[in-house]
Amino acid sequence: MNETLTKELKLPEEKHPMENILRMDRIPHIWCSTCGIGIAVTSFAIALEKAKIPLDQVCVVSGIGCSGRVAGYVKLDSFHSTHGRAIPFATGLKLGNPKLKTIVFSGDGDLFGIGGNHFIHSARRNMDMLVLCINNFIYAMTGGQCAATTPLTANTSTSPYGNYEYPFNLPHLADSCGAVYVARWTALHVRRLANSITEALNKRGFSFIEIICPCSTIYARRNRLGSGLDIMKFYHDNSVIKHGANTKDLDIGYQSKIIVGKFVDRERPTFLDCLNDWNRKKFGDKFREYGGPDD
Ligand code: SF4
Repeated sequence: MNETLTKELKLPEEKHPMENILRMDRIPHIWCSTCGIGIAVTSFAIALEKAKIPLDQVCVVSGIGCSGRVAGYVKLDSFHSTHGRAIPFATGLKLGNPKLKTIVFSGDGDLFGIGGNHFIHSARRNMDMLVLCINNFIYAMTGGQCAATTPLTANTSTSPYGNYEYPFNLPHLADSCGAVYVARWTALHVRRLANSITEALNKRGFSFIEIICPCSTIYARRNRLGSGLDIMKFYHDNSVIKHGANTKDLDIGYQSKIIVGKFVDRERPTFLDCLNDWNRKKFGDKFREYGGPDD
């Protein structure tokens, strides 16, 4: 075959649609097929584009676990921190450089079991960050143990006869601690989730989005729930959209209906607003000299 013909037949090199946000050299990722984490990352990538935030001002922090691997795959300033400590790590980043858009991307075990205390205090202080929580109802990577979100009666490696502890209602926890934006979606609601992340990225203060995701390998297998596709069908048949629902009513039972939507969208002064206000009152003109921000 002559050279000209070979050139003509050569397919153009396709650019991956998410190449500007993913570290392609790290692909393939470690997530199991039909895991929901990849879908959440796709929604996040779509949202970042829509929110039009300069990527050099975005910083992603993850904890430990399957969801904790997100930080390693995004082509942004990102940190894979220690178990349960993603929120204090992100807090330090934000206080060190208030212009950063800090995003915590982690799992339910990391954020609400080991890191639960950090979550409640960060929401109370209205620390300016977005927390995206992948909730798959179990500690997946670390051995399939019962989590603070495991529904009653569900089987895990540490509750082989069924869980008897009441799980957290995450949107209610975030709401009652003072979060300014609270939403919940499943991995099936890709576009709604992307829109919600876009909205939250443009908010000041502590925002929280719970993303219910299938863990086909551990949670679904232990509970004989079928494949990831079966779980997506379950979400399709059992999710109910109720924007503005009272967060007290958002408990999730074992294989029960899942209420999704945007529940809270309000304004409160952020931690830095309060700190700067207090310093202005205390130090007056000297505040600027001490390194306080311009008004
Ligand atoms: S173990 Fe579960 S959560 Fe972890 S990658 Fe596999 S399916 Fe996803």
